[in-house]
Amino acid sequence: MIELKNIRHWIFDLDNTLYPSTTNLFDKIDTLMCKFIEDNLNVSRQEALKIKNNYFHEHGTTLNGLMQNHKINAEKFLDFVHDIDYSLLVEDSALGEQIKKLPGEKIIFTNGTRKHAQQVTKRLGIENNFNKIFDIVDANFIPKPQIEPYHALIATHSINAQNSIFIEDIAKNLLPAHELGMKTAWVESDDSYCKQGYDGKHVHYTIKNLTDFLKKINESIN
Ligand SMILES: [Mg+2]
Repeated sequence: MIELKNIRHWIFDLDNTLYPSTTNLFDKIDTLMCKFIEDNLNVSRQEALKIKNNYFHEHGTTLNGLMQNHKINAEKFLDFVHDIDYSLLVEDSALGEQIKKLPGEKIIFTNGTRKHAQQVTKRLGIENNFNKIFDIVDANFIPKPQIEPYHALIATHSINAQNSIFIEDIAKNLLPAHELGMKTAWVESDDSYCKQGYDGKHVHYTIKNLTDFLKKINESIN
């Protein structure tokens, strides 16, 4: 962990990274995405599920596919799919404590919205531990792992990639970060999509438990 002593920009994905995928919060969003497609494209539930998955895999986010192919209004979609019960999330003060101890700035880099990030971190009780949020609107709706939002994040927040680490549960979203010179850490997942390429050179660290990982870093650098 000593090789992380120069890190000054700690960049975190949000969903299934700052809280475990076992919470199933993101499944609720997924269900609402299907419902939105069903209602707005006038298709069956089964067809909606297929469209959602295809767009997610081909365009990085379901929203991006809907915008490209159906001129869907982004705000309308985002409001609809984030109307979920955030009480599934429980306070995680141990995580907050470790994030707080990291030297430098802490940034959330999400394909979701700022409001969603605020709701999630508030429920986790860690909302005051982050300096910045870079969301899908800041990214002009171009999602990770396309390279544009990484460049935009770096430019907007004057980030030095060499002194940064990006932490994510979708392994292929770490590739552009690695190419730009950031350190990368993959939050382990059983999901076949999240796992794609996890054993590649662009994944520098693997995380079983985020709090434990950050604790080890803090112990080695403080
Ligand atoms: Mg994620």
